Amino acid sequence: MKTNAYAAQNATSPLAPFDIQRRALGQHDVAIEILYCGVCHSDLHTARGEWGGTSYPCVPGHEIIGRVVEVGASVQKFKAGDTAGVGCMVDSCRTCDNCKDDLEQFCDNTVFTYNSPDKHTNGITYGGYSERIVADEAFVLKVPSNLDLAATAPLLCAGITTYSPMHYHNVTKGQKVGIVGLGGLGHMGVKIAKAMGAHVVVFTTSSNKVEDAKRLGADEVVNSKNADEMKPHLNTFHFILDTVSAQHDINAYLLLLKRDGNLTQVGVPPEPLSLNVGSLVFGRRSLSGSLIGGIKETQEMLDFCGEHNITSDIELIPIQKINEAYDRLVKNDVKYRFVIDMASLKSAS
Ligand code: NAP
Ligand code: ZN
Ligand code: ZN
Repeated sequence: MKTNAYAAQNATSPLAPFDIQRRALGQHDVAIEILYCGVCHSDLHTARGEWGGTSYPCVPGHEIIGRVVEVGASVQKFKAGDTAGVGCMVDSCRTCDNCKDDLEQFCDNTVFTYNSPDKHTNGITYGGYSERIVADEAFVLKVPSNLDLAATAPLLCAGITTYSPMHYHNVTKGQKVGIVGLGGLGHMGVKIAKAMGAHVVVFTTSSNKVEDAKRLGADEVVNSKNADEMKPHLNTFHFILDTVSAQHDINAYLLLLKRDGNLTQVGVPPEPLSLNVGSLVFGRRSLSGSLIGGIKETQEMLDFCGEHNITSDIELIPIQKINEAYDRLVKNDVKYRFVIDMASLKSAS
């Protein structure tokens, strides 16, 4: 079905209107009218080709909330009229060890929501900056009914990307947890770490975010550019989540971990980061990475956010403002997630 979308035609041209085709509904498929789509920094990295490997035209968007309009004959979980979410993946092989362990994001054949080979169209997948998406119900999420829909969209990537490593590393009540970077991921990290009972310290390079960080739940806020503010925190953290999207010094944060502490990198700067091995060997500290989360865990995270009334702090934009939003993301000028009101795409068509 012909579907209005917004696409980048190459790494340097602004996103602009573009028609895509959505596949006909298969037996296990759910067709969703997209109401809201969050704007993740990964959308920008991909659209602008910063990581390499982008296939153009590129329709980004993997924080999708919408209304089910039609379901395939064998669909069990959804019916027309239901609210539904789609995150960063729309399929995987379903048979490998990673898939069997509910870690589809590590499957060799994960089909990401955009910029992945699409076996249905023989092209590439197109994401949520569009009117409609068709996905297998196994990769469609149920949305808690008590949450604001627009503010829930960012949970589908920013929420799970921060929830999953904190869950995996057993963040619990009373632990000291650091969140580096107060953007889309970072602000969700603060809310989720607080709900897990942690003592949360935010590290920001933006002095104008200090008050917000406290309002979002941070117990302490550190200006990471100021060495005097960093020093009292040496050797004190159980866990640090680094969400920074650009080149920065991770050694400064590794030194803040206590013995056996872990720093998990979720931000994916296009440039390599340099590691001073000494910051790991003293204190048996560890450094790891984490990629979104599996579908089962994504549902668990949504339910957790429903229980704790957690959503994102958003700035709702029409799709026509997407290029401006990208420019503001690069300047760290986001409070704290842009979400596209997809009605704007309809009205423009
Ligand atoms: P974002 O909203 O732009 O936030 C990034 C934050 O990083 C900024 O707000 C800023 O916070 C800080 N920052 C940016 N440039 C910096 C610099 N040069 N030095 C120090 N701090 C800097 O981006 P996002 O959507 O949260 O995404 C963050 C990163 O995570 C991106 O690289 C994205 O691709 C990646 N990501 C990874 C996964 C995964 O599964 N691993 C999932 C989603 C996104 P302050 O102003 O507070 O300093
Ligand atoms: Zn994302
Ligand atoms: Zn697999």
